Amino acid sequence: MTWIHWFRRDLRLRDNPALSAAAARSNGHVIPLFILDDGILRAPRTGAARIAFMLEALRDLDASLRSRGSRLVVRQGRTLDVIRDLVQETGAAGVAWNRDYTPFARRRDMQIEALLRDLSVETLIAEDAIILGPDDVRTSEGRPYTVYTPYWRRWRALVEQRRTELLNEIDQPRLRPVPERIADQRIPDAAELGITVSQRIPPGGETPGNARLAAFVDLAAEYSIAGYADGRDLLAEPATSRLSPYLRFGCVAPRTALRAALRLLDSVGDDQDAGRIVRSIETWIGELAWRDFYYQILWHYPHVLRRSFKPQYDALAWENDPALFDAWKEGRTGFPIIDAAMRQLNQEAWMHNRARMIVASFLTKDLLIDWRWGERYFMQQLVDGDHAANNGGWQWSAGTGTDAQPYFRIFNPVSQGQKFDPTGAFVRRYLPELTQVPDRYIHAPWTMPQAEQQRCGVIIGRDYPAPIVDHAQRRTRALALYRAVSSVAL
Ligand SMILES: Cc1cc2nc3c(=O)[nH]c(=O)nc-3n(C[C@H](O)[C@H](O)[C@H](O)COP(=O)(O)OP(=O)(O)OC[C@H]3O[C@@H](n4cnc5c(N)ncnc54)[C@H](O)[C@@H]3O)c2cc1C
Repeated sequence: MTWIHWFRRDLRLRDNPALSAAAARSNGHVIPLFILDDGILRAPRTGAARIAFMLEALRDLDASLRSRGSRLVVRQGRTLDVIRDLVQETGAAGVAWNRDYTPFARRRDMQIEALLRDLSVETLIAEDAIILGPDDVRTSEGRPYTVYTPYWRRWRALVEQRRTELLNEIDQPRLRPVPERIADQRIPDAAELGITVSQRIPPGGETPGNARLAAFVDLAAEYSIAGYADGRDLLAEPATSRLSPYLRFGCVAPRTALRAALRLLDSVGDDQDAGRIVRSIETWIGELAWRDFYYQILWHYPHVLRRSFKPQYDALAWENDPALFDAWKEGRTGFPIIDAAMRQLNQEAWMHNRARMIVASFLTKDLLIDWRWGERYFMQQLVDGDHAANNGGWQWSAGTGTDAQPYFRIFNPVSQGQKFDPTGAFVRRYLPELTQVPDRYIHAPWTMPQAEQQRCGVIIGRDYPAPIVDHAQRRTRALALYRAVSSVAL
């Protein structure tokens, strides 16, 4: 009895519920399948960095499967055709996959389920990409939460209730060889798919993902989870886990990450540092809960991908100036914190969370550009680009979302820089042209007197742009625009 396991965004063997279930049902006769779907590869939001990362993750997965006597069957085409053909070729009794929560994936999966029903083939769908499913965490009236803090309290209590279950890792699947006659395709390079990646991206796959997690939860390491609460907002410090692309592609399961954190909580002693470490671990677990939170928002309110969560903000009179948008994208706004962050994104396909919040606030509230423009650009660039988290982050920053930053709270790019990059180390890393600017001017170089500009060799307007907008004026304008729609009745 053969089963097909359809890998999608669960590119790993460890702790993989659908894969292990398929192996159990078929006594190991599993065909591990990955489909390079033409539609997804060509979609305008599919970023090159993500494809390159994914191809590496597929190679890592194939190597792990081969070390267990199996192999990855990669096929390119239309998903529906590939699955139909493979089911017919193998006479598979069932197809298993882990659930995806985006509206596009839901529609596609319903079509595949219908196809399999017609073919009298079983389907098995497991929950995997988030820790608690979108219907698990509900208010006392049975509704989904739309505000994070009460969601988090309920989420954390449920995690405690299900602790024993969550601490249990799923048995590794026992796999038998894929029959010779099942043809597959070599995993292509990005270039073969016509994709050029100019960014430096982290190594893709379960192996580097597990190594990243292990390093982050090693309290003896210089930068570990222990320093997360104090360091996570400092832009120049490598204080966060950098696990986001691995979680995005399921190279590491969020459940596995949570388990590592819970085990660490159990092992923290009661020395004087314990309080700081426990606070850090809880703060980090809270970020995994943010991820679940935005997934359940997307599941229950799929319109957020097209419109504001709060409909009155769809009437906002954005200015949408393409020249200002280009300056933002290319990191030449004249505000060092914005430009450094955008260059981090363009060079590394990743951006620090605090920087994402600052540049998103700047795009919407200083440049008065529709948050959807920024959301799309992030999706094209980010190696961790994820519809739920990205949309949630953008709508939060624009003040249009569920648990959003109130519209009248507008980040000042200079004071944000001074607070979260106090020495200017982050700015200088990505803007080498500002290396010689003294610390006191690093976040507002246009305020340098002429003589100081001459002395440090940075003439504003020649070596580095003058600010493209006046923050104080734009702030007033943004407040007026937001005020005009925020009183409109729902
Ligand atoms: C405008 C904007 C856009 C964003 N777009 C994305 C995106 O496309 N993909 C993405 O994974 N995250 C996104 N985030 C959330 C966050 O910035 C990144 O998850 C984080 O910077 C990744 O770095 P890390 O792995 O070191 O995170 P850590 O701080 O170590 O956090 C651990 C994990 O928790 C999750 N997480 C952390 N913060 C958030 C959050 N605010 N919302 C949802 N999940 C979170 C991530 O999976 C992350 O890997 C966005 C935030 C903003 C403000």
